[in-house]
Amino acid sequence: MSNSINNMYEEIRVRNYAKISQQKQDDENYPTTTSLNQSRVENDVLRLYRMNSAILIRKDHIRLLKKSLTHLNEEYECLDCSRPWLCYWILHSLEILGERLDHNNSSKIVGFLTKCQSPEGGFGGGPGQYPHLAPTYAAINALCIIGTPSAYQAIDRKGLKRFLSSLHGEDGSFSMHTDGEADLRGVYCALAVAKLINVYTPEIFEGTENWIAKCQTWEGGFGGCPGMEAHGGYTFCALAALVLLGKTHFCSLKSLLRWIVNKQMRLEGGFQGRTNKLVDACYSFWQGGSFPLIHAILTKEEKAFNSDYWLFDQGALQEYLLFCTQYPDGGFLDRPEKFRDIYHTCYALSGLSVAQNSPRKLIVGSPNLNLVEIINPVYNLVHSSAANALEYFNTLPIPD
Ligand SMILES: [Zn+2]
Repeated sequence: MSNSINNMYEEIRVRNYAKISQQKQDDENYPTTTSLNQSRVENDVLRLYRMNSAILIRKDHIRLLKKSLTHLNEEYECLDCSRPWLCYWILHSLEILGERLDHNNSSKIVGFLTKCQSPEGGFGGGPGQYPHLAPTYAAINALCIIGTPSAYQAIDRKGLKRFLSSLHGEDGSFSMHTDGEADLRGVYCALAVAKLINVYTPEIFEGTENWIAKCQTWEGGFGGCPGMEAHGGYTFCALAALVLLGKTHFCSLKSLLRWIVNKQMRLEGGFQGRTNKLVDACYSFWQGGSFPLIHAILTKEEKAFNSDYWLFDQGALQEYLLFCTQYPDGGFLDRPEKFRDIYHTCYALSGLSVAQNSPRKLIVGSPNLNLVEIINPVYNLVHSSAANALEYFNTLPIPD
């Protein structure tokens, strides 16, 4: 590595350490379990900011992700009913890193996901399992990343439309599966696949914007369903769903903004999912992914709004991800002292992409080493994969 690059990393370390060590929490001499945990994480983060470099260890991530396609340890046993998710997390992470699978591996995944598709429409968590909206979203996104005619044609669009219609509640909500729980994940997953695969009709989503609006809390973020606590994942689902419906005026943007900008941790640089929780790398996307959507709404609706950057500290988020959440031989973790996993790898990389790719790019570290692909935040697919799928399916008629 050349001296000038070394100097640049040194500068980043010094800048961070000087800046962030001033930002420790004040527990007002009343320590609680929460404040003690927060202090422990802050100390870990400060240690890593001094120790590590801002380099995306791309090759190690790619090696781990490719190996995970066929070899996962027993820790993943609990995800036996979420296998399409594993396909999506791995494929999407690889694509963000600029890597694609060969034809042979891609067609094996298409074959596997086809076996997860239910004769009733929609996808289950594994072959023969009941269809469920979460693996349906994951399977369809995975097939759109593969993006071949056989991947697109593997989707039973007529069955999917029937499945979505069957889950629509009278109040506009969506159940995750037949007789299952209704929450904002259901609304988002149903809308994302309906729009991407072009089976959307206004009747299937009648009243949905009103139900989403009821989920916005006094804090400004959205809870999973009316009356629940504001949460980053549900907030992304709500906002992206309103964007897909073209009804963002059903969200109180001012209170959402106040809540979401305060979810970025002042010392760590990453996001927390809820008030008083610890930083977690997956919220780099669940919170970070809402900012491009907010930016688009403000650009359209507020004449005075004009910014080349998102409304959060994009450098601080990249620093948290690069310094504190990369496992030394590949994969990302939630926060220091946790172990890496494929879910956090996917959403850390999705958040890294958002943080770099504002209208004017902002890259921490060497752009040659660290720049990743641009994502479409509404679907959380790499921009080209979303655009290709939309183009393909929009030429097909909406099934009856
Ligand atoms: Zn997490």
